[in-house]
Parts: sequence; C-alpha cells; structure tokens
Amino acid sequence: MSADTLRIAVWYARARWLTRFRSRARLERYQRRQLRRHLRFLRRASPLFGSLQPRALYELPEQDKATMMAGFNDLVTVPVDRDEAMALAIAAERSRAFDASVHGCSIGLSTGTSGHRGLFLASRSERAQWAGTVLARTLPRLRGQRIALFLRAGSQLYDTVASRTVRFEFFDTFLQVDDHLARLAELDPTILVGPPSVLRGLADARILGRLRIAPQKVYSVAEVLTPLDEQHLRAGFGVALIHQIYQCTEGFLGCTCEHGTLHLNEDVVHVERDHLDERRFVPVVTDFRRRSQPIVRYRMGDVLVLREAPCPCGSAMTALERIEGREDDVLQFARPDGRPVPVYADLVSRAMAYAEHVRQYRVVQTGASSLRVGLDPLTPEVAADVSAELRGLLRAQGVDDVTIDVVSYEPDPTRKLRRVERMNP
Ligand SMILES: [Zn+2]
Repeated sequence: MSADTLRIAVWYARARWLTRFRSRARLERYQRRQLRRHLRFLRRASPLFGSLQPRALYELPEQDKATMMAGFNDLVTVPVDRDEAMALAIAAERSRAFDASVHGCSIGLSTGTSGHRGLFLASRSERAQWAGTVLARTLPRLRGQRIALFLRAGSQLYDTVASRTVRFEFFDTFLQVDDHLARLAELDPTILVGPPSVLRGLADARILGRLRIAPQKVYSVAEVLTPLDEQHLRAGFGVALIHQIYQCTEGFLGCTCEHGTLHLNEDVVHVERDHLDERRFVPVVTDFRRRSQPIVRYRMGDVLVLREAPCPCGSAMTALERIEGREDDVLQFARPDGRPVPVYADLVSRAMAYAEHVRQYRVVQTGASSLRVGLDPLTPEVAADVSAELRGLLRAQGVDDVTIDVVSYEPDPTRKLRRVERMNP
C-alpha cells in the first residue's frame, strides 16, 4: 500500500465511521473545535490571517472569487505566486494533460469567463483527504467498483483514487458523447458520474440500444439537476433515483444519502447561511481542512433550498431540497408599479417540466422584460405550451408584459450547461 493509498484509507474510515453525526449539538461542538484549531493554524501560517489575528470566524471579512484572487499571495500558506500558478494551469488545460503542480500542490482552475477564473491549490495530503471523504460518502462498498467519471476538465485530484480495489476511468467531456461509447461499454461501470447534460446524451444512447451499460448508481455533478433531466435520467438508466454530488474547486460540499436527500458535508465545511427568503440561502463556506489555500467565509454564489421535513436517514447534517443555481441567474423582473420581482431558477425549471413534450431547453433573460427560450423539439405546439407555462408563472408573481422569443435549442458541449440564465446587461 502506497503512502497515498494509506492516507486515503485513513480518511475513508474517518468519514465513514467516526464523523457520522446524528446529533446536531455534537456536530456543532465538533465544528467549533475544528474551527478553533484551524484559526490557530491560519494565524501562524497565512500572511493575511497573521495580520488580522482573528479569534473568531465572524471577525473575518467574507471572501468571494474576486477578493480571493486579488489577495491570493497573502492568503495562501505555501510559497506560490498567483500569476505563475495561473500560467501553469492554463498551459496544462490547453494541452489537456492536467498535470500542473507547484510546490507539491496540484493546481485547479474554476470555470468562469476569462479574467474571472479562480485558482485552487491542493496539496497531496489534501487530495488524499478529499478522495477518502468522497469515497466514504458515495460508495456503499469499495471492492469491485468500476467508476466512470465524466468531467469537463481533468485534474490530479481524480487520478489520486485509482487503485486495485477500485477502478476509475476519466472521460473528458470536451469530446462528443459518441467518442466515449466503446470505452464506456468496455468499462461497464457500476457507478456513473457526470454533468446532467452529458448523462442525458448517454441515457439517449442507451435507450437507442447504442450503449449497453447498467450502472447501479448514477451521480449528477457540476450542473444543476433540473426536474426534467432527473426524470429523463431515471428512465434512461432504469434507476430509482439520481444521486448528486455538490462538489466544486472550492471543495466537497455535499452529497446525497441513501434516501436521495442532499446533505451538506458539515464534518468538513462550516456553512453560514445568507438567507434570500425563508428556505433559500447562499452558503458562505469555511473549509476547516483546506490548509494550502484557505477557504474561509467564502461566498459560493449558489442558491440552495432547505428541505422542510427532516431526512429519514437521521443524519444531523443540513438536508437540502435542491441546489437551485447561481445567484446571478435568478431572473429579475419588475411589477407595473416598479417593485422588483426575483423569479428563482427552480420555478422556471418546474414550469418547463409542466409543459408537455419538452426534451431540452434553455431559458435566458436577455433584457428587463424579455426572455429567449431555446427548445427541443421546436414545434408550434410545444412553443405555445411553454410560452403559456412561463406567462402563467410570471403572472402569478405580478409580472405581465414579458416578450418571449422562442428559438431552436443549440447544445454547446464546450461550456457548463445552465438551463436558466440571466445575461448581465
Ligand atoms: Zn438523508
């Protein structure tokens, strides 16, 4: 057993058996202890926190991608320069080799328009912790699992996990679905992981008899899983539920339990909630395990929705109804009297699921009172049905007089699919 495999095994055991909290009070006590320890480390090792000398989390300013990137060199606890690391990461991504590393840390890039990309470092031991925790939370048993990972960009994070017990194969979603079918059938995965837009393509291939696989578990990652996609994927793969992993370069933030409920990984991250309404909130995350590049009071920009009823699994970790989308993608309209009306992405997704015969869609707010809807199939009946559903939804919020422009749905495999999006003027 290599040193890395051993590390992974330790973190696997820890997440599996030691930090499964059933009491909220015990979980919070554990978090307070972890945070105190982490702040002690940060005061000592990070120039930024060394100058701030925080005694408690709330004394610290919130961060987001922009502030984190601006203050990068002062924030990190390893001698890594931002511009140098960014150049290495971009070169690695261009060559699709994904092996950029500096001072023993692998470098990951978060998606975003150029100039707004985030840079994320992970040391060897952080990668092992990450892998152990992900495996513990997602795999009922390790032996004999064959896992197919469809990801937009590879990274050393994922290579870490290959071993004799578990077989991982990485599929680059930069390629078309058809290019993967032969290798995927050969792997015959027990577990299939990918963004819903890619999984849709695989499910279609399976329905058409072009792909013969029977995964036991299907995981949606990296994009919002809308009700319409979930429905198609369940039918397409013949599974009772579609699992979700809430994971991004910023950390492993949550995943579904055996009941299909999404729980935040509060044994790894501390989550403050900035509430938008009673159940919706934007998470502000502190990861008390990430040391090389501290993630402290980091505003994620996602909108999460709390689950109303407790989950029957008994976990003390916060249960979510769903991940709704990006904060920037909440549609913004106004009533005739000028009062602003936010229309949340999940309401739009729901309206689209009510319309009949829709296979694929994208709803984009293009102006103060205009929407562009990409539809597949684009027939007069489907277009009329969708327009009626959307108008009904908006009218219920007091918004009349919105122009809806219906066009043909054009998939773009080079970027992350956002089914509901607000274009910034
Ligand atoms: Zn649960």
